[in-house]
Amino acid sequence: MNWRVTFVVLLLSVSTVALAQEEGPVAYQPDILGVGRLFLVALRVPADAPQIDISVPPQVELLDRTPLPTDREIRKYYFRTLEAAKQADIVFAHPEGPVTVSVEIWSYDDLRELRELKGVQLPRRWPLGERLPELKQGRTIITSEQEQSARGEPGKQWLDLTDDEIWALQPDSTIPRWHWVNITQGCPVHGDEIYRGRAFYPWSKPTSAPYAWKIRCPVGEELYPSNDFANYDFTGGDFPDDGIGGGYIAPDGTHYGFIAETAQAYAHHMLAVAPACARSYLATGNIEYVHKALVALSRLAVEWSYLATMTHHRHRNNVAQVERLGQSRFDEGPFLARTGFTVYSIDQPGYQRSHAEAYDMIWPAIDQDDRIIPFLHTRGLTHIQSHEDLRRFIEEDLMAVWMQGAMDGATSSNEPRPQWGLVTMARCLNYERGGEFMDWLYHAPGGKMRYFTVNNYFRDGAPYESTGHYNSVHVTGIGPVVEGIELLRALRPETYPHDTYPSFTGSRAYRSIYDFVMNTVNIDRVYCRLGDTGDHPEFRVDPRITWNSASARSLEHAYEIFEHPKFAWALANAPGWSPSSEFPYSREQIEAAAAEWPDDWNDASCLQDGYGLAMVRSGQGSNKRALWMMYGRARGHAHDDMLHMGLDAHGSEILAQLGYPRNWSAWEGNWMTQNQARQIRFISMT
Ligand SMILES: [Zn+2]
Repeated sequence: MNWRVTFVVLLLSVSTVALAQEEGPVAYQPDILGVGRLFLVALRVPADAPQIDISVPPQVELLDRTPLPTDREIRKYYFRTLEAAKQADIVFAHPEGPVTVSVEIWSYDDLRELRELKGVQLPRRWPLGERLPELKQGRTIITSEQEQSARGEPGKQWLDLTDDEIWALQPDSTIPRWHWVNITQGCPVHGDEIYRGRAFYPWSKPTSAPYAWKIRCPVGEELYPSNDFANYDFTGGDFPDDGIGGGYIAPDGTHYGFIAETAQAYAHHMLAVAPACARSYLATGNIEYVHKALVALSRLAVEWSYLATMTHHRHRNNVAQVERLGQSRFDEGPFLARTGFTVYSIDQPGYQRSHAEAYDMIWPAIDQDDRIIPFLHTRGLTHIQSHEDLRRFIEEDLMAVWMQGAMDGATSSNEPRPQWGLVTMARCLNYERGGEFMDWLYHAPGGKMRYFTVNNYFRDGAPYESTGHYNSVHVTGIGPVVEGIELLRALRPETYPHDTYPSFTGSRAYRSIYDFVMNTVNIDRVYCRLGDTGDHPEFRVDPRITWNSASARSLEHAYEIFEHPKFAWALANAPGWSPSSEFPYSREQIEAAAAEWPDDWNDASCLQDGYGLAMVRSGQGSNKRALWMMYGRARGHAHDDMLHMGLDAHGSEILAQLGYPRNWSAWEGNWMTQNQARQIRFISMT
């Protein structure tokens, strides 16, 4: 893929800016800002020079600065924007003469203005270059049966927060977000000891409101950073992390992103509010939940609208954004593909779905919330005068930006999750111009549904990644995309004709997807574990399974489409299965269909010649055994496992590989984690 190319281009553009600012006294300054956003100015000043006087214009506020004495030649000044300005001049009384730093500050309306950056239309909002042409006209996802059977109040905790507190759950997107404080160095005090016994994300991130902006080391339980970031202290204590100027920089020059990992956790936290409140409203009818969901959706709409134009402050998924001196600048953009708004793009499709469903859940009750418009006025959103304005605001500034983001690759994830996210939000909006979303879904390189099942699975129906979780995404996700397309078609048959958007479930390739997940079960209990999945092998008699790398709902979907007894057999013999609320068949019907399928259908040896799996099987009952070999090559989350062998017997895995990576560098390419029937590296065999 061209991920690496993007990264290289990104590094080049960063270094270009650095060069441009290398000469004079200004080491870093931003170019264009939004209102209410943090920013940094960095000056080159001799370390022994006294504090510099600053003349600050009324549109910005000075929050903090590098304390003296300092032995560093770079001094950092931290600001926040207060109001829009065509040009706001900050004048520094630098020892070599006055230095003026000019910035432009865009209001909410300025950000929404149509403009181009390097030939790219901004804001990235569907339909590009236009205002939103229509509004949602009714509930289109949630059925009355689902409403009747809704239970539970997952949003209860949010009722305890004030509207202002919910509003504040969304961090300023100018603060870069990242998955790790420092992936290799760990903690500045305890180093990589933090990974002992906690391989992946060891830091703990309390999210109670109001945010403390502290992250806890799992070894010493000490909190970082030392400064009170929540109260605009960027520099205090021994481990200060300014979040926007390189993070905490240790004396040896190592960067630690305490604020970056914390900001990412907070951004996720915000995305939990609206779905939980909407679900609670559905179950209780309590209008207070609608109100809280609208507060959260509105806050997200402000941020999505900002990120539709200021694409350089999206989650760009590289640590360079955290460690650089000063935030990314507008003139470095635009950044579209694999830029996940507030969080990593792979998490976006799930949030797109949950927020589409949330909006659909509360939609009929939005007009009953008479406190939301006055509240939004306190946040400066005075253009929202009616509930229709409010719905337009949420649909245009949040959902239309999300839809364009999906079509730009900003919701890039394990496939077909991006397609699932888009089709769910398309169902929620149900616009007359929805054909534009469907055209992307069927024909664009990112959507590619027209040829997806043929091109994106091996010829035996196998997805192309590791077995277990990653492959299951391709199986559990495709059914909902198929169903979503048909549900859309039912809403507007004239907009989505079969001629233009054909059903693709009739192909043998589609059926093979569901065959593969059943055919690769060995000894009724385990499956061929390959690539990034599971743990090191351990003897234990596993419970019975009838499929792997899929879900009960996937097999229900397969039965609905094909009505084949094999899929009924999988459901009827799966321990604990009972029909889901979406499944139109009873257990008795499924058991009757399953009786037509022989119980020993999968006892014979089996070759899956797309993924490349040879399974030699024999034995009966608890003496079933399978010796198998991987002779193919998966493309995603794969290990160096060509000619890896596995043995399953006595109800357990006996011989297996070592599973999911324990580190992020040397694991996947290392043949020593496998049982190889070869002595040389895979690469030299091809
Ligand atoms: Zn520590």
